[in-house]
This record gives sequence, structure tokens and C-alpha cells, in this order.
Amino acid sequence: MKIKNVETIVLKQTLDEGVSFAYSQAWYNTRTIMILKVTTDTGIVGWGESFGPAFVNQVIIDKYFKDYLIGKDPLDIEVIWEGLYNMMRDHCSKGNAIEAISAVDIALWDIKGKYFNQPIYKLLGGTPRKKIRPYATGLYRHVLPTDMDVLVEEAKGYQEAGFKAMKIKIGFGIEDDIHAVKAIREAVGDEMMLMVDANHAYNASTALKICQGIEKYDIRWFEEPVPPEDIEGYREVKRHTSIPIAGGEAEFTRFGFNHLLGKRAVDVVQPDCGVTGGISEFRKIAVLASVNNIQCYPHVWGSAIALYTGINCAFALQDFPNKLVQEDMLLEYDRTENIFRERLAKEPLELVDGYILPPTKPGLGIEINEALLEEYRVEA
Ligand SMILES: [Mg+2]
Repeated sequence: MKIKNVETIVLKQTLDEGVSFAYSQAWYNTRTIMILKVTTDTGIVGWGESFGPAFVNQVIIDKYFKDYLIGKDPLDIEVIWEGLYNMMRDHCSKGNAIEAISAVDIALWDIKGKYFNQPIYKLLGGTPRKKIRPYATGLYRHVLPTDMDVLVEEAKGYQEAGFKAMKIKIGFGIEDDIHAVKAIREAVGDEMMLMVDANHAYNASTALKICQGIEKYDIRWFEEPVPPEDIEGYREVKRHTSIPIAGGEAEFTRFGFNHLLGKRAVDVVQPDCGVTGGISEFRKIAVLASVNNIQCYPHVWGSAIALYTGINCAFALQDFPNKLVQEDMLLEYDRTENIFRERLAKEPLELVDGYILPPTKPGLGIEINEALLEEYRVEA
């Protein structure tokens, strides 16, 4: 089998005023995503996706990776990964080049699954679990300062939809954050698992003030309290709070995660396959997490391709050491407006009693709605 063509597609969805939203760093008014289609001489097609600035990722693949890839055996995934990484390592061993490699790697795993007629999680070694628990990522802000009533209504909506866990966006100031967590905890009750995510809005001392204010609300984890570069800040926050500290969505490759995990900067590590080098690199990071006895849950943000990549990786992660008190495997499930997450796969993801079941189709487990690609495709 040989790679015959490599095609990048940038998709853009403009969000209507009512559904644009803010996290601690910016307002989100558009969705722009780079999708990769890898065609082989057998007719098998693999799909990949990069997180991050879509047009930059597109240029890297079109101008630097495409010629290298055409004619290669798509089953030589590790060889190709190292070849692409070696091409870029002196210049961008973190950032867009790795996000571009991620899309290639995911597409090659999709091809491999289709070639062997198996879901990717099977090729990764199989799954010890029958289901995974998606947590709703939402609770962004549609107006600032926060309208707590709107936020609470949204939280109740996730509860009514069957979610058993949800993540609250914070990073809007100490008082606002504490107030939001209190209001939501009181509205959804004690059984609901709650996480918070500041998207690195703070320094360690401010993050700790928020920890002091929300510890009593039983928080499963505090995600990205400080910027990803501030490893010592992570350690400081972690040392002084009982809330588990999470991070890693802005970290790249096994080399970056080796540092993060080796420093024991987080309790929960969250590699994103569209960022960190794809499924191949996710697998190595999961091994590093296991070596350091740190929990690993996939971060997911993107289209149905990113979602099903995360699903396959979550199923393939092996059990945590405690066999008697087993927490569900958790997967991020973004609930903000995103037509590519909802409609790029021909069959939408169905939750069963609030859980995700293992994919049964080969590769990523989805068929791509190519008409949607054409409808939302934009040129640089
Ligand atoms: Mg996050």
C-alpha cells in the first residue's frame, strides 16, 4: 500500500452572535479547523485533524510534508512520524509543526484500522472497559461579567441531558470564579462531578486563592491554573491545595510531557492528539504517565475526527492501579456550537445513559460527510 495523495481542507464556521462565547483568553466567534485527507493506492482513505491555527498547519503539510509522504507505505507510521519530526525538530519541536504531524499520524492510524478492519483502540492493545464517561465542556461566558442565572441554566441542561460530569470555565477573576462554582454546585447537587478550567489565566498565588474558595465544592480537578511554561507555578499550586491539578493540552510530544510528568507538575495529564503528535505520540505519553503514576485523560477540542480520535485513545488507556474503587475513564466532550463535531461524521455520536460505548467500525469508526467539507471549505 502506498500514499497516493495528501489533501488539506480548512473549514470555517462563523458563530452567530447568540452562540459566540468567551473563555479566559478570548472571545470565540468562528470555528476554523484543518482537516487532512490521505488517499492510498488501494482506495482506503484516512482522515486526520490538527488543533491550532488552521492555515499555518495547512502550509506546513502542503509545502513541507506532502512530497515526503507521497509514495510512502502508510503502515510505516513510526518511520513517517520520525521522518517528519526530524524534518522540523531544529526549528519547531513544539507548536504548529507538531500539530501538522498530528493530523498526518491520525490519518495513518485511520488507514491502518481500515486496512486491518479493526477499530484503532483494538490496534492499540484493546480496552479494559465497556464504556467511558464523557464530561460536558461548556459553561463558557456569553456575556461579561458573568450572568450566573444563564450559567446555572446551562449546567442544569447538561444534567437533564444525562451528563454525570461537567467542566466549568473559570479565569474571570477570583470573585466571579468562586461565585460561579458555588452557584453551579448548589444547582446540580453533590453527585455531579465538577471540574474547573482557567485556561492558564493566573499566576500561582492567585490560583491558590481560587483553590481556597472552591475546595469545599468537591472539585475533581483544576485545569491549567497557570501558563504551560510555568512548571514551578504548577508545582506550587499542587503543593498547597487538595484539589487535583490538571494540565497538558498545550504541551507537545513525549519530550515535553516527559518534563511535565517528571517534575510531577500535575495530578492529571491531558494530552490532545491533535496537538501533541497524534495517536502514536499519545500512546508514548500515556506510558510516561503510567511510569509516573499520574492519571491520563485525553483532551479533545475539534471536529468528529478529533472526538473519535479521543474516544479510541480513551478506550485504549489501561486501568488505574486501584482495582476495587475504579473511577470511570473520562473524556472531554465539548458542548459549544460546532457543526463539524456534530455533522462531519455521517452518524452522530449517541450517548447511552450518559456514557460512550466503544466504536465498532474500523479505523476511527466514522464515515465522513464530504458534502459538509465542500460546504464549509475556505481558502487561505
Ligand atoms: Mg482546557
